[in-house]
Amino acid sequence: MTPADDQEREALLARLRQLERAGRALEPGASRRKRLRNAVVASTERFLRKLQTLKAYEETEDKGAGLLASPIAEHGISIGAALALLEHDVIRPGAHPGAPGHLAYIPGGGLYHAALGDFLAATSNKYAGIFFGAPGAVRMENMLVRWVADLVGYPAAAGGTIASGGSIATLAALATARDAHGLTGADVARAVVYLTDHAHHCIEKALRLVGLGEAQLRRTAMDPRFRMRPGALADAIAADRARGLRPWLVIAGAGTTDTGAIDPLDEIATIAARERCWFHVDAAYGGFFLLTDEGRRALRGIERSDSVVLDPHKSLFLPYGSGIVLVRDAAPLLAAHDYAGSYMQDALREPGEVSPADVSPELTRHFRGLRMWLPLILLGTRPFRSALEEKLLLARYFYREVGRLGFEVGPAPELSVVTFRWAPPGTSLARANELNRAIVDGVKRDGRVFLSSTMLDGCFTLRMVALSFRTHLRTIDLALRVLREQASAVT
Ligand SMILES: *Cc1c(COP(=O)(O)O)cnc(C)c1O
Repeated sequence: MTPADDQEREALLARLRQLERAGRALEPGASRRKRLRNAVVASTERFLRKLQTLKAYEETEDKGAGLLASPIAEHGISIGAALALLEHDVIRPGAHPGAPGHLAYIPGGGLYHAALGDFLAATSNKYAGIFFGAPGAVRMENMLVRWVADLVGYPAAAGGTIASGGSIATLAALATARDAHGLTGADVARAVVYLTDHAHHCIEKALRLVGLGEAQLRRTAMDPRFRMRPGALADAIAADRARGLRPWLVIAGAGTTDTGAIDPLDEIATIAARERCWFHVDAAYGGFFLLTDEGRRALRGIERSDSVVLDPHKSLFLPYGSGIVLVRDAAPLLAAHDYAGSYMQDALREPGEVSPADVSPELTRHFRGLRMWLPLILLGTRPFRSALEEKLLLARYFYREVGRLGFEVGPAPELSVVTFRWAPPGTSLARANELNRAIVDGVKRDGRVFLSSTMLDGCFTLRMVALSFRTHLRTIDLALRVLREQASAVT
């Protein structure tokens, strides 16, 4: 070694020691961790204490823009200052999906046990993409997928994965349906997809993303309760075959977002099987009502589908970021997501345990299983079953009572969505639409509960969805009170 070499080595070592010290903040010690943790827990406790009385929708002047006054900079700020920003500018404005009064769109959840699961998952940062990397984590996810497959009634050959939500789960299902039927570029323009006007827009988005944006969409007629008419489906398929088209995919809703309607799954399954179409069921909202006796009856036929999507972040009350896709036969799901990378050659595949990366567009992903496993393993399924049955009955109760207040009601709820509108006798359609728009705006301004609306056959229609695990009878009574006040205010 020359003296110049020695000098260079010393300089390198000095710089390394300096950088290690400068980066030390990335690994807080036990007492610093405790301070951070206590501050964060105190913030969550402040939130949870307020949640019962919080406005379900909070309108703020600047819509959280205060956050932008503290840009990411070379030097950090204190945990107290960061939490103050978070509480004021992020948590406060807008909707509170897990609040009892959130009865709009499809309410979310936010089980505390799931939040702790996320904390554990992020702390250990187990790599749940490939069995080799974290055999226990992958077993946990597969066990959960199997639990849901049993709930749906799928055979042992079924496969699936926990994706980030219903839209990504739908993407995986439709990529599988495409490959299982051997659709190639040349077939796209002749391929036909059957669905109703109330199918969720994530389906069209997924079709575009899997290269099938030019497939033909056949909007199948609905009955007066907004359910697909099986006869119309059979006729449409026959007409398309006669025209030389290729009927490929039938999509049914198991709880549509608009009205909570369940398409007649059993009859549709029979038609899809006869016509050799792939049968996909969108149960993103309604799926976990399978835990209840009434839900099981209402969803009969779901077990005959080729693929299904269920969102644990809806009817299983998990925080956002979990949607499950299941495919009756795992083989085409695996084939559609097959990949190889030579740098992965050490990651041997384990017979009997599918790796999530092999059945998903994702490779590296959040260890999502833990947020679902922790609440289920700690609480068992019983409280979920009860809470879901409670939602079904709350919807039924609301349906009766809102009718008694003089609102015109839509079809009796099949799950936990109720549609209704204010249309006093003699009101024109245009005037009724104005009144209902005014009511939904008034409810939002009032803020004690949060409702949303949709258009049904040209009618501006109000929706009430009971799905938060925190929504109970007193919330529904409050919603009825608010609606009575708003209706008399606009009339
Ligand atoms: C919410 C929903 C989706 C989309 O799922 P995301 O989890 O929001 O991506 C699809 N279909 C139905 C019926 C839904 O309610």
